[in-house]
Amino acid sequence: MDKPLSPKFLLEDNLIKLARWLRLLGYDATIHRSTNLSSLIALAIKEKRVFLTRSKRIFKLKQKFPRYLIKDTSYKNQLYELKDYIKLDKEHLFSRCMNCNVSLNDIEKKKIKDLVPEAVFEAFENFKICRRCGRIFWQGSHYHKMKLTLQKIFLKQ
Ligand SMILES: [Zn+2]
Repeated sequence: MDKPLSPKFLLEDNLIKLARWLRLLGYDATIHRSTNLSSLIALAIKEKRVFLTRSKRIFKLKQKFPRYLIKDTSYKNQLYELKDYIKLDKEHLFSRCMNCNVSLNDIEKKKIKDLVPEAVFEAFENFKICRRCGRIFWQGSHYHKMKLTLQKIFLKQ
């Protein structure tokens, strides 16, 4: 992976679905289940993350930190709200584990023979693994469905 995508995000835990889709796009999107707002803001500042929130109260705080008020409740519309700040970049698409928010690594096909269904092993050549959760990824129908969803969002006028 070349340059990491920017910006990085910190999300409230009511935005977990949005976080997972940002990760699919390759963005570093972290969630901390802390209820301590000042420590969350400190983290956003320290790690130079844009704080995504659905709370007008947080959005209006006088303290200075990068933030964005998410208005919609559906992840598709939430992604669309962010479209001026994020992009659909093929090179980064599906480069990050949607559960763990860490970069995926390529793994040799022969090493995962016993870890994926036989039909998947036969049908695909390229696999990636998340070193944190151990999940293996390939570009199957699920991949194409998610890609299509993203394309629809980003091509919407
Ligand atoms: Zn993972």
